Amino acid sequence: MGQGQPPADSPPDLEALAARAEAEIAAAENASDLNAVRAQYLGKKGSVAQVLRGIGTLPPEERGRVGQAANAVKVRIDEWVQARRTALESASHAEALAGRRLDVTLPGAGGSPGHLHPMTVMIRDVADFFLGLGFSIEEGPEVETEYHNFDALNMPADHPARDMQDTFWVEGDHVLRTHTSPVQIRAMTGRQPPLRLIVPGRVYRHDMSPRHSPMFAQVEGLMVDEDVTFGDLKGVLYAFARHLFGDDTELRFRASYFPFTEPSAELDFRCPFCAGDGCATCSQSGWIEWGGCGMVHPQVLANCDVDPERYQGFAFGMGLERGVMLRHGLPQIRLLYDGDVRVLEQL
Ligand SMILES: [Zn+2]
Repeated sequence: MGQGQPPADSPPDLEALAARAEAEIAAAENASDLNAVRAQYLGKKGSVAQVLRGIGTLPPEERGRVGQAANAVKVRIDEWVQARRTALESASHAEALAGRRLDVTLPGAGGSPGHLHPMTVMIRDVADFFLGLGFSIEEGPEVETEYHNFDALNMPADHPARDMQDTFWVEGDHVLRTHTSPVQIRAMTGRQPPLRLIVPGRVYRHDMSPRHSPMFAQVEGLMVDEDVTFGDLKGVLYAFARHLFGDDTELRFRASYFPFTEPSAELDFRCPFCAGDGCATCSQSGWIEWGGCGMVHPQVLANCDVDPERYQGFAFGMGLERGVMLRHGLPQIRLLYDGDVRVLEQL
């Protein structure tokens, strides 16, 4: 009970009213019950208001005493209501806290760990394979001189083969390299065979068609020594293809032309989607183009001061996206470069 004892001269009905109010307030189990009890006693039409309104009907000598007693009851009820409200709020707060107990010893919820981009996985796989054959890994600039990208590779300015490559020109005599072959020149210049190296890297062609990308990755290969033959080239490329795509992989060498190799061949692998029967992915041919290769042109060796009478070599350049598309059944190269994690998470 909040206040002290009620005054001894309070009318009996006010004391009974206070006792009822106190019991109902104590029984209120939530804020809405409590509001209802308060309205019932202290509202405009509540019990206390009715007593106060009845004062006018009392004998004049009674009016002051009853009025004081009714106001005192009003104050007491209001105090009980406030005390009960505070008690209910702290109980509900404690209950909420108990429901949200934090166990700091539980393990964390964990995040998505992510993974390497499929092109990174492919490049590392390629590097692994050739390191195992004793090849080294070389790099060169992506903004390349016209000399390294074209001239030294047996493509002087008036050579029609330059039209085969849709070149992005930078300032002066610089280009975005159209192939990884200029690194052959950089690797052979100032060095003498034996040379065995690969060059994985980005190359650029001005080709915006949906089946292509203006930037893509190649792996260049070069081996120069005495007695290197086209048979060595075929052996290395077969082993490479079967490392990447499985032991059943079939290859096809088609006679072709590149200024920097002689003889030259284009290399296809048997379409894995239709096993050679023809499908949309291989344009009904049963084969998928993979890259170009051939024996290094004697003029290219001579341009690097390597004696073509003593040394021969082979070179190849393979598209790496083709390999990733094949591994994962991707229909379009651009899916690899859009950065859409919904696609990349599936690979
Ligand atoms: Zn096919």
